[in-house]
Amino acid sequence: MSNYVSVIFCRNCHSRYVEVEEWDTPDKKVVVHCRTCDVRESFANFTLGRCKISDAELQIARDTRAIPFKPER
Ligand SMILES: [Zn+2]
Repeated sequence: MSNYVSVIFCRNCHSRYVEVEEWDTPDKKVVVHCRTCDVRESFANFTLGRCKISDAELQIARDTRAIPFKPER
């Protein structure tokens, strides 16, 4: 049985190097940070997990990412 996961990419630079920089801010949010372009953003109801995937699987994630006027496939 296959396991499906979501992968987060930076919309600013398309990098996959996105990580949780700060946990549990005073307003109870998680701050995510792109290590490539240094952009930051926060959200309240999600966090990130990590696993190792192949280059082919990463390419599939890139090819199916949601972009403007083309929602996630
Ligand atoms: Zn970036």
